[in-house]
Amino acid sequence: MPSSSIKKILVANRGEIALRILRTAREMGIQTVAVYSEADRSFPHVAYADQAVCIGPAASKDSYLRGDKIIEVAKQLHVDAIHPGYGFLSENADFSQAVTDAGLIFIGPTAASIRLMGDKISAKQTVKARQVPLVPGVDEAISDRNVAKKIAQEVGFPILIKASAGGGGKGMRVVSNLDEFDGQMDRAISEAVQAFGDGAVFIEKYITVPRHIEIQILADQHGHVVHLFERECSIQRRHQKLVEEAPSAVLSPELRDAMGKCAVEVAKACGYAGAGTVEFILDENKNFYFLEMNTRLQVEHPVTECITGLDLVKEMIHIAEGKPLSFTQEDIQMRGHAIELRICVEDPYTNFLPDIGRLTTYRRPQGHGIRVDDGIEEGMDIPIHYDPMIAKLIVHADSREAAILKLKRAIQDFSIEGVKTTLPFGTFVLEHEAFLSGDFDTRFVDLYFKDKQEPIPAAQSTAGILAALIATEIQKKSQKNRMPYPVINQGISAWKSKRS
Ligand code: ADP
Ligand code: ADP
Ligand code: MG
Repeated sequence: MPSSSIKKILVANRGEIALRILRTAREMGIQTVAVYSEADRSFPHVAYADQAVCIGPAASKDSYLRGDKIIEVAKQLHVDAIHPGYGFLSENADFSQAVTDAGLIFIGPTAASIRLMGDKISAKQTVKARQVPLVPGVDEAISDRNVAKKIAQEVGFPILIKASAGGGGKGMRVVSNLDEFDGQMDRAISEAVQAFGDGAVFIEKYITVPRHIEIQILADQHGHVVHLFERECSIQRRHQKLVEEAPSAVLSPELRDAMGKCAVEVAKACGYAGAGTVEFILDENKNFYFLEMNTRLQVEHPVTECITGLDLVKEMIHIAEGKPLSFTQEDIQMRGHAIELRICVEDPYTNFLPDIGRLTTYRRPQGHGIRVDDGIEEGMDIPIHYDPMIAKLIVHADSREAAILKLKRAIQDFSIEGVKTTLPFGTFVLEHEAFLSGDFDTRFVDLYFKDKQEPIPAAQSTAGILAALIATEIQKKSQKNRMPYPVINQGISAWKSKRS
């Protein structure tokens, strides 16, 4: 494959991830273009780019999801390549294809890889042949309920009914016994249709003590694939991550090696090129099972950057240019320990409901080993149209203990007023015995934080909060490639829906 140097990049995203990508591009001497919605006019990513173009109204479907407009802007401004970030169009196979068809470089995998992995059922089928362990269950869409029930009994309750097109922690239903089966199945299907426009569901054994551990991979266009170790992401709410760390406190070198090799196999199975993440679930006996592959840069990628010293966006750009990886698996070393806290504008004490308002005070912590990735400034209003995550606080230190102390200090030094955030939840986690000992799993919030939460006060169930929640859901829905340029409020598609 000929290598073509990228001289100008358009970043098809907003907020912290847009800024993070723009910074690396600038370091590489690459010209940059930002696109933005009317709601984001005064946001830092717009000011930071060499050029910026407004692509439409606030709603994602009219701006950040308008792949056609974004490609048009890219062509007009003689852009070479588009980086999609995460969320929005990043896992949209049709978009990847359209970018390529327009003669531009998509900084990410091919449409074919995205399509294979974007659908959980086809992903399982793809990796099965490579001896990648799957969660016990079925790896095809359920069409016959009686057959499904029989399988559920064989697998043993509890089981999980999952939407094949699911994403962002949505479209999952736990079934604890046979009596609940039909009801939960109906709910799962209707949820899947509503959220993803696709009612295909399948069954997995519900792992009762589950840890979410994922492996970062990098693959070039010449068949070289390496892994960059794991990230522990078990601290979640609503099946979505809040705290991530690398390395995990529970992986032995042997298990790390086995999971890493498995992740490389997954990448090879779908002909992957770019940065990607293979997600696994680890049970209490430390058996690991493939969950899914995220075919994009991930929110929590900075912890991997900290421990490996690599700039993943830079690597993605080199890969997109057709360059071979400049290192082998043996060259990659792990150094120290990194932890990330997602700072979301949510009230942890009322079930993590999104908050709204103005950032009246916003002062970042500073010092050795502290990184803040954000895309907002003091005095700005939090747009209700997008994901509530406004910043990521990442620390890197020599050991897990030192990283925990550093993150606690950084949280104390982070001054945010005007809106509620997940900062105090971060402190709660870092002081909790289960986290300190490393003996925790995805039930952390339910087991230890539930009694800290109050029922949602009636006064707060305002239209504003609802709107924020809806906006968040909308952005999540847009994640997957099966709902192509998509599509919000069930079905207003700006691009024709293509099903794999
Ligand atoms: P990951 O899979 O990367 O660990 P998530 O599962 O939380 O993290 O998925 C990425 C989330 O980020 C999605 O829920 C999406 O709504 C959100 N998101 C996408 N783009 C942005 C953005 N520009 N700013 C903030 N959040 C975003
Ligand atoms: P999504 O596409 O929404 O990210 P995933 O399959 O990655 O879906 O699952 C999201 C989260 O749901 C996981 O991180 C884990 O916490 C939980 N989960 C998924 N599958 C199982 C399972 N079989 N048993 C227990 N928990 C699960
Ligand atoms: Mg996932």
